[in-house]
Amino acid sequence: MRSETIHKRGDERVEAYLVDYDRARREFSWEQARAALSGLSGGTGLNIAFEAVDRHAAGSRASITALRWLDRAGGVQEISYRDLAELTARFANVLGALGVRPGERVFTLLGRVPDLYVAALGALKARCVLSPLFAAFGPEPVAERMRLGEAAVLVTTPALYRRTVAPIRDRLPALRHVLLTGPTETDLSGTGSLAGLLSAASPEFTIGPTDPQDAALLHFTSGTTGRPKGALHVHEAVVAHHVTARFALDLRPDDVFWCTADPGWVTGTSYGIIAPLVIGATMLSDESEFDARRWYRVLAEQRVSVWYTAPTAIRMLMRRGPEEAARHDLSALRLIASVGEPLNPEAVRWGAEVLGRPVHDNWWQTETGAIMIGNFAAAEIRPGSMGRPLPGIDAGLLERGPNGRALVDADGRVRPLEEAAEGELALRAGWPSMFRGYLHDADRYAAAFADGWYLTGDVARRDADGWYWFVGRADDVIKSAGHLVGPFEVESALMAHPAVAEAGVIGTPDPVAGELVKAFVTLRAGVEPTEELRTELLGFGRRALGSVAPREIVFDDALPHTRSGKVMRRLLKARELGLPEGDLSTLEVTR
Ligand code: ATP
Ligand code: MG
Repeated sequence: MRSETIHKRGDERVEAYLVDYDRARREFSWEQARAALSGLSGGTGLNIAFEAVDRHAAGSRASITALRWLDRAGGVQEISYRDLAELTARFANVLGALGVRPGERVFTLLGRVPDLYVAALGALKARCVLSPLFAAFGPEPVAERMRLGEAAVLVTTPALYRRTVAPIRDRLPALRHVLLTGPTETDLSGTGSLAGLLSAASPEFTIGPTDPQDAALLHFTSGTTGRPKGALHVHEAVVAHHVTARFALDLRPDDVFWCTADPGWVTGTSYGIIAPLVIGATMLSDESEFDARRWYRVLAEQRVSVWYTAPTAIRMLMRRGPEEAARHDLSALRLIASVGEPLNPEAVRWGAEVLGRPVHDNWWQTETGAIMIGNFAAAEIRPGSMGRPLPGIDAGLLERGPNGRALVDADGRVRPLEEAAEGELALRAGWPSMFRGYLHDADRYAAAFADGWYLTGDVARRDADGWYWFVGRADDVIKSAGHLVGPFEVESALMAHPAVAEAGVIGTPDPVAGELVKAFVTLRAGVEPTEELRTELLGFGRRALGSVAPREIVFDDALPHTRSGKVMRRLLKARELGLPEGDLSTLEVTR
């Protein structure tokens, strides 16, 4: 009862904060945000699955739909908070019966199907560490991640088991149990039937004492800049999932929320599973991959009110033109947000004009666990800017050294820049969803911090009013004839041309200028890649950018993307220079 009251009061305060950014920054405290969650009964800690599921199942929201799942064929399945509590309790009991102990790692290799959500939240109830993998990974990336993560349990489908796991199973000695979804298969030795075990298990489960600092999630980064890193998060991350969803996504209990990211990436877990459930909303999950017409239909027919997606999806919708959008009733949409890559001003405006809502960009990383910088739900949007630091988040820009990263002097001090400036984006360490380690890489973790700051590896600019603008990855920033050129600025300028769908910009070595700016461009549907167009785009770029404009433009049918939707500039560069292509485990191959 007491916690319900606190929750209510906390929520009223958040209402006021939503319309007053400065007040929110002034008054917000993580202690209050923690108090707004009820914690496990009897004061036995804080557990993500309790906050996401059991809290609602025990209260007035028990019969509300927690998960509305759309299968490929167009079928719909609804699971209420009460049912989700029961299913996840069963899964936690299954783990207990198999002798799986708190702290052990439970991996999933599943498409977006209900069993994925049951296993994920059930594993958290059992206080195991959840590591969801993207189902389209081949055997090697799966083997590497499961070996690094010492997977004790894997939940997957019979087909994925045969194709992806069976060939590598003997390389995974720590893997004790493989549970297969769907009807029981008898020919796959060394596996168990998830359905059989779930139905035999008790639907009652009491979550054991969970320290807020207990490990909960293991997420691998997107691999945009190199080999993916395993980032560990703890249970108190849920405090950040909760408040950032309120601030940056304006998510409320009566929303139908659709996060299009796969839970194999951090966005698909923090906001594709945890945040909407903690808020008590209805979470939509669509099994199928991107398809412009289907996505419009889902938005319209499911009356999606808050939609969280990625720039590449918006750009693909843009490529289809406004006619497709006009065929669908998008009147339920209250807020659209985007993350993962720079969002070009064109895309923000296109949202406003064609979808009826501007797109709210926000910025964060696997390591930060939750949204850190965003265009506040109720505040002014500056198209092209990633927004301002969320309440409770102290962002800064640090002076950079010759290697492009923040300068750290012999005493370990960094140099924060004041007012309008450009530097390495850094965050004051200590927010609840901050990662607590890179798996088996303590040195890399230690090197990510200096002088009380977490160094993000991204370069950003801050304007005089405190809005942050993404410049590029510290490694991607181009040095041309004495200028530092952010690839994003060049890409955005090119994408303002009506013929351009997407652009990826790199620096190529040049004996005189150091580096020259080179752009790879894909064109909108129906546009021919002619010499005239190339000349026109070069001129267009020059008029917009002056001396930092691209000197060379190459037309491509598609740019290489990570599976989480980012342009892989390092691959464009490696191919350009004839260098080894590096770790391609997260390269999207079928587009
Ligand atoms: P890796 O660390 O393995 O190279 P990654 O950094 O792409 O991969 P993620 O943690 O998924 O892995 O992505 C975080 C990065 O994505 C950020 O550091 C930033 O470069 C980029 N990013 C995220 N959101 C935005 C945004 N709104 N604008 C610009 N860039 C963004
Ligand atoms: Mg990264």
